[in-house]
Amino acid sequence: MTTVVRGGDLVDGLGGDPRRGVDVVVEGGTIREVVEPGNGEYPSAEVVDASGLLVIPGLINNHTHGTAYGPLFPSGHEPLPVAQVDANLDRHLLEGTTTLLCVDGFITAEAAARTDEAHPITVKAASCNTPACLEAAAIADGGGLTDEHRAFTARRAVAEGAVALGEIGAGHTLGGGGASYLYIPEQIARRTGVTVSAVQANDLKVAVLGRHISTSAFDRDAVEEALAGAGLAGKLSVEDAREIVSRVVLPAFDVALRGLAEAAELGRDLGVPVLVHNAAASMTQVAAIAGTDVRLVAGHSNHPSFTTREAVRHAESLKEKGVVVDVSVLDTFGGERPHLTDLLYALFEAGLVDTISTDYAAGRHDPILLAIDRATRAGVVGLGEAVAMATSAVADVFPGLAPRRGRVVPGAVADLVVTSPAALENVRTVMIGGKVVVREGRRVAHEASHDR
Ligand SMILES: [Zn+2]
Repeated sequence: MTTVVRGGDLVDGLGGDPRRGVDVVVEGGTIREVVEPGNGEYPSAEVVDASGLLVIPGLINNHTHGTAYGPLFPSGHEPLPVAQVDANLDRHLLEGTTTLLCVDGFITAEAAARTDEAHPITVKAASCNTPACLEAAAIADGGGLTDEHRAFTARRAVAEGAVALGEIGAGHTLGGGGASYLYIPEQIARRTGVTVSAVQANDLKVAVLGRHISTSAFDRDAVEEALAGAGLAGKLSVEDAREIVSRVVLPAFDVALRGLAEAAELGRDLGVPVLVHNAAASMTQVAAIAGTDVRLVAGHSNHPSFTTREAVRHAESLKEKGVVVDVSVLDTFGGERPHLTDLLYALFEAGLVDTISTDYAAGRHDPILLAIDRATRAGVVGLGEAVAMATSAVADVFPGLAPRRGRVVPGAVADLVVTSPAALENVRTVMIGGKVVVREGRRVAHEASHDR
């Protein structure tokens, strides 16, 4: 079957400026050619009208959680219900993602394949099943890990289709976002009955352990202030708060840090990229394993724990050592933390960004295309460049993730997104492997599985 995506402005994923008004001809699952519009050579083709719209390659998202059937996060948390995983995948799809890497890390090959079968998005897994990461997960949580998961080592995962190691040292074992939005609120609610927000829990965490996670950073006044801010004054003592935060964060912390060096070595051995949790707490260890001959991806180099200056300097020094600098959209625009926009824009403006992903942000990540929309309007990155960072660049960094994808060129797999130039996040049409799976911004029915 032939489909012509007609008359759209094309950003082909290779980094250049848009090409005005072209037809993208798709035959079977492949892009056949890109031609001047309306040349009439394909009279029987199905037409997707893209006039006045922007055509880009399907996005390739290298950092997602809750997107495969199995333990959630690299802390081995209990799996999300299948319906929730499906809903997460739908959301990524409607945001223009056509390939994603689930970096929960304990997903088995069978579960990854089952998820991939069940949804039009191409789902691949990364593994964090190394001895130290498994130990850190067991300490921090491990509630979703069965004997089968424990036995499914990273080596085996890669042999059976995992395309990377990761997320190594995630926020759930390294005192990052996961501690703030999941484990600390859980413990506080258990102790006091009070529900605290991720931002409140994070303030408390920083007051007890600092941004770089160290017991010497304890600041009694800041803890009192954070307790008051969270409505916990008189309900939780400073000492109890210190104990809760310390008990959530510290036991797994050193083990997880050790996991970074261990994963770098294994990644080198297995010849796959290693995606690491890059944050204030892990930056020294990430820098230490940079410059070795492993392909290291510094995940979310705009992590909220960094100051802007620190993030830029750190990314500069990582990049000098050949590390891939990834930024995650997180909840930068929809969230409550204004400094996240500065962080993201500063990295774009300094020309340091290689790839763009979403990460999880407690399930509230903003769309990649929203970030590209805002950042291009702010003038900190060009449109062609930014689209490449979320498509071809990701395919190049993770060779097993999306071969022949991420570009609108003849011979590539026909993963396409048609969206509005006035609001890039307003995705109209998504095509995966030549099949239209989103039309007018909605999932097309009867496309639940892809038969490629
Ligand atoms: Zn993550």
